[in-house]
Amino acid sequence: MCGIFGYVGELENSPSVILEGLKLLEYRGYDSWGIAVGNDRHIVCEKQVGKIGNAVLKSDVLNLKSNIGIGHTRWATHGMVTDANAHPHLSCDRQIAVVHNGIVENFNSLKKKLEKKHEFYSDTDTEVIAHLIEQELKTKPLKEAVVSAFKKLKGLNAIAVLSQEGEIVVAKNGSPLVLGAGDSSYYVASDPSALISYTKKAIFIEDQQLAVLNKKGIQVFSLENGKKVASKIQTLQGEVADTLPGEYAHFMLKEINEQPKVIRSVVEVLTDSAVDMAREIKAARGTFFIASGTAFHACLAGTYLFSKIAGHHVNTSVASEFNYLEDFLNPKSLVIALSQSGETIDVVEPLNRAAKKGAKIAAVVNNLGSTIYRMGDIKVLLGAGPEIAVASTKAYVAKIAFLLLVAYSLVGKTSTAKRLLRQSANEIERLLRKSDLEKIKKTAKFLAKAEHIYTIGRGLSYSTALESALKIKEVSYIHTEGLAGGELKHGTIALVSRGTPCLVYAPSDETYEAIISNATEIKSRGGFIIGIGSKKADVFDEWIEVKDTGDASLISMVVPAQLLAYYLALEKGADPDKPRNLAKSVTVK
Ligand code: GLU
Repeated sequence: MCGIFGYVGELENSPSVILEGLKLLEYRGYDSWGIAVGNDRHIVCEKQVGKIGNAVLKSDVLNLKSNIGIGHTRWATHGMVTDANAHPHLSCDRQIAVVHNGIVENFNSLKKKLEKKHEFYSDTDTEVIAHLIEQELKTKPLKEAVVSAFKKLKGLNAIAVLSQEGEIVVAKNGSPLVLGAGDSSYYVASDPSALISYTKKAIFIEDQQLAVLNKKGIQVFSLENGKKVASKIQTLQGEVADTLPGEYAHFMLKEINEQPKVIRSVVEVLTDSAVDMAREIKAARGTFFIASGTAFHACLAGTYLFSKIAGHHVNTSVASEFNYLEDFLNPKSLVIALSQSGETIDVVEPLNRAAKKGAKIAAVVNNLGSTIYRMGDIKVLLGAGPEIAVASTKAYVAKIAFLLLVAYSLVGKTSTAKRLLRQSANEIERLLRKSDLEKIKKTAKFLAKAEHIYTIGRGLSYSTALESALKIKEVSYIHTEGLAGGELKHGTIALVSRGTPCLVYAPSDETYEAIISNATEIKSRGGFIIGIGSKKADVFDEWIEVKDTGDASLISMVVPAQLLAYYLALEKGADPDKPRNLAKSVTVK
């Protein structure tokens, strides 16, 4: 988690450049933020608890003339959310400042040794890095000191070190870092979307690499042997407008509204990739989907789609569990990883292990140049555009749209998938019309009083039930549980009492009758049934109509729940874009 941003160059307003960059990275962590800039051979620092978007600076750091600095938005792992624990962390002599993404797993033992000679001001693992570099600087120049200190860290880390000498040194082993090369201006960021307003020329730093940024430019080195590495400049996609909410009150609402466009773009752009992927799946001896959170629900949907449409079995596993489930992988296996950010550490780890076993890796991600993208033997870029709201919406539908294309391509019917997807995009457009939104808003008002909500579905809608529950709970903080329709009576129905709301996914497919029976069981215990589907049923207390679009119905059917989640968050006074305790792009274990 966490966002790192740094700048060095000709501009003299580095504090505001860094603050603007950090604001674009806020979604990565919003426990606290901080910046450190070089001014007249001194390092000046400001740090605060809270979201950078609301920042009002206490010092006059913003007005300082400075052409170099680093900043950080934190998602705390070690040490409480306090000003002192906010990054950057400084060495005792204030000659260097450090920002960090990751966890220094051996920080306790390092700290014990350093404490004898260095004063610590925070409880973070990060501060150890500042003092470690300070110690190394006694005998080495900056670059070598960072190399030596970084090699002593255990865990997956990315750091940016500001020196009062006018250089930024960055190093990484796990968490993402991308460099930007503008006109006499050089940047480092955790995510390319923070660079787009400054430059489209980017260099993605690999693990075990270090880069030195100063007024003269950027140089990349190997951390292992210290030798210079030829770095490839890539052109970033997207526009500045993609990183702003525009006419919408929140990114989440903007991204929900972008879904029809995203589905159409998957149809236009990814058909060939889908056909290629189908070929790879046919050739493999065992295919496995892995992902975390919302992307895992897309995988689960994929398993059902592949079975139903192509009679083809694909295993699905939560990525963090795949570590304990991969003993059977071999060079003929295909592991398909789905990830919006392409940085999820829970996905990166099992992929590394799978690669060691010789398995082929397919990366289906939304971020060009991301770690998982680079790991892929087969690479698919979803093209959903920057997703800024922490709760994923448009990347989810993009993933399912792609998997639907692949499933139909397995049986040579790609055009059927394209037709269904276009219908589903049209249906989502209808659901987003003002008149239809009013109904959802009213339902959200009513649901806001609930303590628990249940969501059920069968078959293709099982994944939709799980995803709906996740969406609602993560942004509204109402306990919501998603279940397979048949499972409720095996335990959870004990929690249903008068008025307990239940979202029932009832598409016009082979699951309809069984799920209506499940809804009736809930209603008999006093539950309040909100049916979602194309056919009204007597058991529904409320009905949200979603027209049938065949096997693509599961895409349009998730939209009412996304909207309910959004409006529930507003009803509860929560920020739908930045749910508490969460951060986008989970780069720590
Ligand atoms: N471990 C560091 C801390 O707790 C960095 C966490 C992060 O990546 O945001 O401050």
